[in-house]
Amino acid sequence: MRIVLLGAPGSGKGTQSQRLVKAYGIPQISTGDLLREAVAKNTELGRRAKAAMDAGKLVDDATVLGMIRERLSRPDAATGFILDGFPRNIPQADALEAMLRELGTPLDAVVLLNLDLGILFKRLSGRRICEVCGQVFNTYFSTAQELAHCAKGPEHKLIQRPDDKEDVIGKRLEVYEAQTKPLIQHYTELKLLRVVDADADVETVFNAIQRAVQGASKPSA
Ligand code: AMP
Repeated sequence: MRIVLLGAPGSGKGTQSQRLVKAYGIPQISTGDLLREAVAKNTELGRRAKAAMDAGKLVDDATVLGMIRERLSRPDAATGFILDGFPRNIPQADALEAMLRELGTPLDAVVLLNLDLGILFKRLSGRRICEVCGQVFNTYFSTAQELAHCAKGPEHKLIQRPDDKEDVIGKRLEVYEAQTKPLIQHYTELKLLRVVDADADVETVFNAIQRAVQGASKPSA
């Protein structure tokens, strides 16, 4: 199965991708994760991407497309994948289509995780990640106990992503509205779009995604 998870920052793409990885045994390809990894390792690509990421802007298409081309060519992506955070604009979607056409492996579905702007803001500004166990929490929605206790150490060491700071969130949501939202129309026209209400608990949203992609998978050409 080859799917794209589309949605604003904070709509739950990362969380739902991880569930899909477990359910379908296909890899999650998150351009945000790949870029953060490159920044952490201080690679040349990471150094190039960092300023745009810190400002909540998109990294240039050539950099992201090079990264995606390389990732899609790895053996684990041959049986399918979940694209999380890519494509982010029309040129990226066009380039993806061309790449997949070349491989003879078209997309099966594009799932839009639909969520109100006010909730998105809380999800992003409240998001905290434990440096020790990697779990994701939220200062608005997690309990005090969840925020305190860490399975891998005496207590969580909660950090905030630099781009989850309030001033950057505004920019990221602006970029989504201007550049990513046109993909909804694009994939509607291609008859690939499935809309899922993302304002529910993880399990409910996951079940809705499964229903949305059921029957979408076609045999590889
Ligand atoms: P994410 O984790 O998907 O919210 O991505 C974090 C940041 O990485 C974004 O704000 C962008 O700066 C950059 N980024 C991730 N995916 C893309 C993409 N497909 N195109 C351009 N920039 C991206």
